Amino acid sequence: MSERDERWLRALAAVRDAGPLLAAHWDPQSREGFVYVRGDDLADQELRSSLEDLARFGYVERTFVDRLSLCPNCRSHAINVREICLSCKSSNLTAVETLHHYRCGFVGPSYAFALDDEGRRCPKCGRTLHDLGTDFDSPGTSFVCRVCDSKFQLPDVGALCLSCGQTLAGDEMRRIVYREAFSYRLSRLGAAALQSGRLLDRDGETRYENGAHVFRRSVVLAMLEDERKRSRRFGTPYSVIVIAVKSEAHEMALAPRLLELVGETDKLGRLDARHYLLLMPSVSSAQAKATLKQILNHPSQEVREAIVRAAMVELGDASDTVERLAEATRWIDRQ
Ligand SMILES: [Zn+2]
Ligand SMILES: [Zn+2]
Ligand SMILES: [Zn+2]
Repeated sequence: MSERDERWLRALAAVRDAGPLLAAHWDPQSREGFVYVRGDDLADQELRSSLEDLARFGYVERTFVDRLSLCPNCRSHAINVREICLSCKSSNLTAVETLHHYRCGFVGPSYAFALDDEGRRCPKCGRTLHDLGTDFDSPGTSFVCRVCDSKFQLPDVGALCLSCGQTLAGDEMRRIVYREAFSYRLSRLGAAALQSGRLLDRDGETRYENGAHVFRRSVVLAMLEDERKRSRRFGTPYSVIVIAVKSEAHEMALAPRLLELVGETDKLGRLDARHYLLLMPSVSSAQAKATLKQILNHPSQEVREAIVRAAMVELGDASDTVERLAEATRWIDRQ
């Protein structure tokens, strides 16, 4: 068994041993901000890279947990976000209550209305403010910069990296980088691999140089079964497109280009020599319809010629996925 397969099996076992879900644990001391293996950086790094590979091949399913903001300069997650001054970018701000004098229309910070025996005095017209609601009101708080004395209602947002000292202000906040944290659980395929003690034979699967991957029949069917189960349990949508092609020989021209059109979580598998199945997890039928249109109107003539037909297949609550797919394939061929 290859070193990589051993590493992947260890990762699958780690997911199984963690219970139904291998969860990310927040850890501000750690390099990434969260860990799967506590107290062992090296093991954690190895595990997380295996998990991502396993997710790509459908051995584990990942669930989004949260998104961390990272410093664009040093990738640290110790980045402090706070309000800053619109003009000088200082975070030395103070919030003050604003008052509005109805009679003369003056709006200003409450400290500008001097307090005397009779009440607050309007700095513009000199009259006294008596009743909140009839004389004056408070439209809210505004900010005053203690450095440049600017006043504004909505401050800007800026960040300070606690690791490298980088500061970001206003539009520069778009440079912030994100890292997504996921939890993982075993898929049927992953459980089967663990049980048999080896990664399922990937004979008949094709990988192309740009990372495009065509799964063999049993693998894509197992992934489809997982998707149907998830859909029944959580009501998440998924879509299936069956593509009939002229002959298997067209795959080299076809597969990588089809995969360019679809999302990175979509999976292309071979149903038989002349049919492909495109599985689109979390994709509604409306979105899938748009993809189907793109496939059929592919800009490459070579691709258009290789495709005989393509159609969406609704599995509904069919009890036998394989039988329902065979039926759909026959229907597509008759069209
Ligand atoms: Zn300022
Ligand atoms: Zn006034
Ligand atoms: Zn930094």
